Amino acid sequence: MNILILGGGGREHALAWAFRQNPKCDRLIVAPGNAGIAAVAECAALDILSRSAVVEFAGQNAVDLVVIGPEAPLAAGVSDALREAGFAVFGPSKAAAQLESSKAFTKAVCDACGAPTAAWARFTDAESARAHVAAQGAPIVVKADGLAAGKGVTVAMTEAEALGAIDAAFSGAFGEAGAELVIESFMAGEEASFFVLCDGEAALPIGSAQDHKRAFDGDTGPNTGGMGAYSPAPILTPALEAQVMEQIIRPTLAEMTRRGAPFQGVLYAGLMIEDDAARLVEYNTRFGDPECQVLMMRLGAQALDLIQAAAEGRLAGVAVNWAGDHALSVVLAANGYPGPVKKGSEIKGLEALPETSTQMMFHAGTRAADGRTVADGGRVLAATGRGASLAEARARAYTLAEAVDWPEGFYRRDIGWRALPLA
Ligand code: ATP
Repeated sequence: MNILILGGGGREHALAWAFRQNPKCDRLIVAPGNAGIAAVAECAALDILSRSAVVEFAGQNAVDLVVIGPEAPLAAGVSDALREAGFAVFGPSKAAAQLESSKAFTKAVCDACGAPTAAWARFTDAESARAHVAAQGAPIVVKADGLAAGKGVTVAMTEAEALGAIDAAFSGAFGEAGAELVIESFMAGEEASFFVLCDGEAALPIGSAQDHKRAFDGDTGPNTGGMGAYSPAPILTPALEAQVMEQIIRPTLAEMTRRGAPFQGVLYAGLMIEDDAARLVEYNTRFGDPECQVLMMRLGAQALDLIQAAAEGRLAGVAVNWAGDHALSVVLAANGYPGPVKKGSEIKGLEALPETSTQMMFHAGTRAADGRTVADGGRVLAATGRGASLAEARARAYTLAEAVDWPEGFYRRDIGWRALPLA
């Protein structure tokens, strides 16, 4: 079969790498792709936010399955246009993608279906938002309603901080995304992520993960898109996973169907866990990066069968063939990330790295230039290992990270600290 993946980060490299191992994968095209993806797939220049351009490209290339990596094409309705044109698509409709693109929408869905989450209220003017904070006190959480690339959320430990966030939002700091605010009660606990494939009706869990948002060791420094992840997350026990499916995921999917927006794709639930109970923090409607790298490392070739079944509405009765393994991914970022970074520095030593089912260097932001590989973004590589234990997976990931010769980059040395004592 011919497959088109939209995107060009570590997430899409991991998807392409897993699909390539499946004998049913014939042509594999990734748009726009990157230097690492080029080793396993054709990279194509394509405006992935243009509904008509993507539909035309899929037709011209006789594509059997389109897999949408990032959120922007989902919010632009690319999956709707592809489905209308008759293509099998992995990725929710624009209406269903509101579970990520609008926090107020998600909160209303949770209220309607009884999924446990933080108490919330929605505001369109600063005055009533400020009055709410004064009445509730701190800690309290202030969120811009729309997509703000993770920068629209303030977990305020003091009232003054919350008021500052309200003023910033209504002064236009987040553009359109700040025109509406959701203010939530603060949830204490430990965070974990849970991933479920959905075909519009059936749902299949494909694993849990924990990420590391802060830039530096010891969870210090600024927030980032994610500096590392591992799967499974030990805190999500089988009993807790069952609770999440029954109390959060299945009710959400039923409510989406009731609203005429059945969910097809991957539902990524951010959970807060305290006293053996899980509450929803947020949904994403696509794979996370680097969570996708650890999930794909664990699933391997079967990832294509599962994703295809979800896209074709055939997920009922499908099971994951689990190996009882662990995976861990360490992100190598350009110096200065998450602030401004210099692009174009050469990364040496990549060609000597092993590429196996237990060790893989996924490319997130790289470019080929005159036969060299150069950095082309903030998060640049994801060194990923798999093993029978998390310790083994971590050792394999760090062996890869250490073998790379790239003085212009850095990585955290403590990925996995929550689940493993660090040697
Ligand atoms: P991202 O996509 O970067 O995770 P986002 O903008 O979608 O961010 P959320 O995931 O809703 O925003 O919130 C970001 C982070 O803020 C969460 O991962 C969590 O650590 C914290 N957070 C959000 N809501 C709450 C809450 N009610 N109580 C405690 N912490 C919270």
